[in-house]
Amino acid sequence: MLGLMQDRQLLISSLIEHAARYHPDVEIVSRTCEGPIVRTTWAEVRSRAARLSKALLRMGIKPGDRVATLAWNTHRHLELYFAVSGIGAVLHTVNPRLFPEQIDYILNHAESRVLFFDVTFGALAKDLRAKLGKVERFVAMTDAAHLTDDLIGCEAYEDLVATEDDVFEWPQFDERTASSLCYTSGTTGNPKGVLYSHRSTVLHSFTACAADGLRLSSADSVLLAVPLFHVNAWGIPYAAAMCGAKLVLPGPQLDGRSLFDIAVAEACNFSLGVPTVWLGFFKHVDDTPGIDLSQLQLERVVIGGSAAPRAIIERFQRDFGVFVIHAWGMSETSPLATIGNLLPKHRTASPDDKIAVQTKQGRAIYGVELRIRGEDGDALAHDGAVAGDLLVRGPWVASGYFRGEGGDVLDAEGWFATGDVAKIDADGYVQLTDRSKDVIKSGGEWISSIDLENAAMAHPGVAEAAVIGVHHPKWQERPLMIVVPKAGPAPTREELLDFLAGRVAKWWLPDDIAFVDTLPHTATGKLQKTKLREQFRDHRLP
Ligand code: ADP
Repeated sequence: MLGLMQDRQLLISSLIEHAARYHPDVEIVSRTCEGPIVRTTWAEVRSRAARLSKALLRMGIKPGDRVATLAWNTHRHLELYFAVSGIGAVLHTVNPRLFPEQIDYILNHAESRVLFFDVTFGALAKDLRAKLGKVERFVAMTDAAHLTDDLIGCEAYEDLVATEDDVFEWPQFDERTASSLCYTSGTTGNPKGVLYSHRSTVLHSFTACAADGLRLSSADSVLLAVPLFHVNAWGIPYAAAMCGAKLVLPGPQLDGRSLFDIAVAEACNFSLGVPTVWLGFFKHVDDTPGIDLSQLQLERVVIGGSAAPRAIIERFQRDFGVFVIHAWGMSETSPLATIGNLLPKHRTASPDDKIAVQTKQGRAIYGVELRIRGEDGDALAHDGAVAGDLLVRGPWVASGYFRGEGGDVLDAEGWFATGDVAKIDADGYVQLTDRSKDVIKSGGEWISSIDLENAAMAHPGVAEAAVIGVHHPKWQERPLMIVVPKAGPAPTREELLDFLAGRVAKWWLPDDIAFVDTLPHTATGKLQKTKLREQFRDHRLP
C-alpha cells in the first residue's frame, strides 16, 4: 500500500523561491572581478536568475543541455546556479585553475553549449573560442562597459539579464533530472564528470542545515571561501537558500588579507575552505603586527578537501575561539559524507582530547552509509584500529560517471569505493589514513602518509609537509618526507626526526627528509603526490 502524501518533486527552483519569499532582504555580498563590492538580496537573486532563465530559453537552451561556467565566487555565478538548473538544464562548473588543455577536454566532453566566464578569464575564453570546440556562445560575466577589445564577439551577462523581466513560473519535472556537473580534478587519468540531480542536491542541503550537520541557518553570515567550481561549493549555495543564510562571496580574492577583511566587514560567523586557505589566513594574521582579532566574529569553520592538520584546528580554537568542523567527502559524494561534530560524552573531555576527536574526519551523517573493506574483500570492524578501503552508499553518492566513463563503479551491493583508506572507531568517527594510491607499503605493513604529514606540521618551523613512498630494495617502499620550512631559522633534518620520534611509531620514521621552497598542489589545493613521486623518483635514501 502506498502512502497518501503529495509527490511534490524536490527541485532546486523550490529553494530559490523559498529564499525569495521568506528571506527576501537577506544580503548576498559579492566582491566582483571588476573590483567593487556588490550587495544584492535573496529576492534579487531570484529575480535576476528568473530573467537569466528566460534569456537561456530564448537562446534555445533545452532541458539536459549543459551550460558551463569559468568563474569565481560572485553574485552572478550564484544566480547561474539557480537560473540554469531551474529550467532543467545542467550547470557545468569548470575549475579555472586546471590546465587549458584539461579545460578544453572537459568542455568538449560535456558538450557544453554556452560558456559563462569571468572577465579575468578573458584570455582563456579567447583561446577556447579559437579552438572552435562545441561551445556555441560565450558570455562575459560583466556589463557592456567592461567588454574589452579581447572580448569582441562575446555577449555581456548584464545585457542578457536586462532584456527579460522576472515574471516566471519555474517548470516542474522529475526530481531525478540532472542539475549540475563537476569533473573530478583528475589526479589520475582524464577528469570524470559527476552528475548531480535535483533530488540529490535538495536532500544534501537538508544535511548542511541539520543541527548535527553543518547547522547552517538564517542566523549565519557565511564567508564562502570554497569555490563555486569545487563540488558546488560543498552544496552551500543551495543550503543557504533553503535556510536563508547571508552569503559573502569573496570573488577572485582568496588571499589571507582579503578573507580576513571581508569576514570582519560582513560580520561572518561561519566559513568553509580547504586547509591551504586557512594557512594563508593565519599568515596574514602573523604578518600584521597589532592586528585586532577581537573584530572577527567567526564561530565555526568547516575544513575539508584535505586533512585538517591538528595545528590548524588547535590554533583556530586557541587564538580565535573558532570551532573547526572537520568534514570528509569527495565530488562523488556531493560532497558532505562525514562531519566532525562532538558528542555529548565529549562535553567533559579535556581540550586536548576534544581536538583529538576533531582531527578525525567526523561521523557519517544520515543518508550516508559507510563500510571499510580489507584486502580480501571482507568488511572490517569499526574498532578504530584496523584500516581498510572506505566504501560509501547513499542518495547523494554517484552511481556512475557522465557518459559511462570508468564503467561500473558500484559493487553488487551498491557500494562506491572511494579510493581512500580509513579506520572507523566505535563511535563511528572516520579517520582517513591515506588515499589508496598514496599509502606507503613497507615490508607488507602500511604507513600512513597523512599521519606523518600531520605529525610534521605540528613542528613550529614547518609550513607544509608531504610524505611519499620511494623504492627500497629491502622494504619495497620507505617514507621520504618533503618539507617547506616556515620563514626564519629552518629546522634541521635531525631536529625534525627527533620531533617525529615522539609522535609516530619508530618504523614509520621517514628514511630521509628533503627541504623545498614549495610543494605542487592540484587545482583544488591538494598535494599533488603524482608530481612529487615523479620529482623524487630517483631520490636515493641514505
Ligand atoms: P579529487 O578526487 O578529484 O582530488 P575531490 O575534491 O573529489 O577531488 O577530492 C576528494 C578527496 O579529497 C577524498 O577522496 C579524500 O582523499 C580527500 N579529502 C577530502 N576531505 C578530506 C579530509 N577531511 N581529510 C583528508 N582527505 C580528504
